[in-house]
Amino acid sequence: MKSASANRRMTLLVMRDAQHSVKQIHLSKPLLMAVPAAAVLSLSGLILALQAHSSQVISQLEQKVSLENAKSLQLQSSVNSREQSIERLQNEIIKLSTQAKDMQLKMQRVDELEQQLQQFIEKHGTGMITGDSADKASSLSWDASQHIGGEFIAVHDNEMLDLAQETKDDFQEIQELLKTMESTVPDTLQKAQETQRLIAGNPTLWPTESRVMTSSFGYRTDPFTGKAAFHAGIDIAGDNGGPVYAAGAGKVTTADQSGARGRYVVIEHPNGLQTWYMHLSKVLVKEGESVDKGDKIALLGSTGRSTGPHLHFQVVKQDRPVNPLPYIRPESSEFN
Ligand SMILES: [Zn+2]
Repeated sequence: MKSASANRRMTLLVMRDAQHSVKQIHLSKPLLMAVPAAAVLSLSGLILALQAHSSQVISQLEQKVSLENAKSLQLQSSVNSREQSIERLQNEIIKLSTQAKDMQLKMQRVDELEQQLQQFIEKHGTGMITGDSADKASSLSWDASQHIGGEFIAVHDNEMLDLAQETKDDFQEIQELLKTMESTVPDTLQKAQETQRLIAGNPTLWPTESRVMTSSFGYRTDPFTGKAAFHAGIDIAGDNGGPVYAAGAGKVTTADQSGARGRYVVIEHPNGLQTWYMHLSKVLVKEGESVDKGDKIALLGSTGRSTGPHLHFQVVKQDRPVNPLPYIRPESSEFN
């Protein structure tokens, strides 16, 4: 062992089986050390290579995964934005449908008002009404059965589609009604205005503050001669200088004075009637002037053939005096 150690050589005996001889292999010590070192080195190289490869694979995988992740995130966000868009659209549809219902209600109100006007014209009018425009307006039906309020209940897509379709129908209906109204409403309004003018022109307003009648229409004993005479109007007692009102709207055709009538005014009304106001202390209107029902046209007096302060009021129809009482009513202190 000393010599082997000294010459730094080692002998390996290789024994195989009985048929083979034992082999002696002489190896220098450094070489013997180098073999396992080389093995370790090559192994660690392999491990390093493996490590490098696996880290590459891992990073590739990581990339793939992160790509997938990004894709799925993108998908998610596009799903989210789609959902948001759908929600926005749904809200739009709901808003539009509410607006449509609101418009329908307003137009229904207009339609009702027009029908009221038609009824007004039919009741007070001059027979100019054709009637078919009212039928046109009322032939459209309304659905005001939609109520508002309550808890939140999520809607399904098909419900939204139904609502969208319904809203579209509503708007179409509104459009149709608008078209009808465009042609009928101005006509109705004009007729109503004409009717209104005739009504305002109808002498119905009691012409004085006082309601004390001292002489009625018809035959009476004349207060001056004591003989039977025809009284063409009614006499209403009142205070000297008290107001005298126009019984209806119209045009002043006469503002004059005469021995018997004293100071007097004649108003012609649109329906052909005239009203006469006599024995006035002062006339406040001029010939040709238009007056409204209730306008103060004169002051009460006792001018002309009069025994004391009173208004002689008379209604003339087709140049003949008629009884004023069917026209004016003592309770009519308001404009009616
Ligand atoms: Zn009289």
